[in-house]
Amino acid sequence: MRALQVVVLAVFVALIVLSLVKRRRVPAPPRPMIPDELVKDPVCQTYVVRSRAVTGASASGPPFFCSVECAQRYAAGSRS
Ligand SMILES: [Zn+2]
Repeated sequence: MRALQVVVLAVFVALIVLSLVKRRRVPAPPRPMIPDELVKDPVCQTYVVRSRAVTGASASGPPFFCSVECAQRYAAGSRS
């Protein structure tokens, strides 16, 4: 009955290995993380995270600003 013992042992080893593999599997994030881009404010030369930047009204100029004040200053400066 040596063959039966080997089979049982093999099944045990397989179960242990499978449980270890399952435990080690790290849950994947639901969506790939997109690194937030840094954009430069053309008025005060500050780098701002794109998602938090203020978008300028003018389509011609650089559209990202650190604040509404900078966006207004840029619009006023480009008009004159
Ligand atoms: Zn600014």
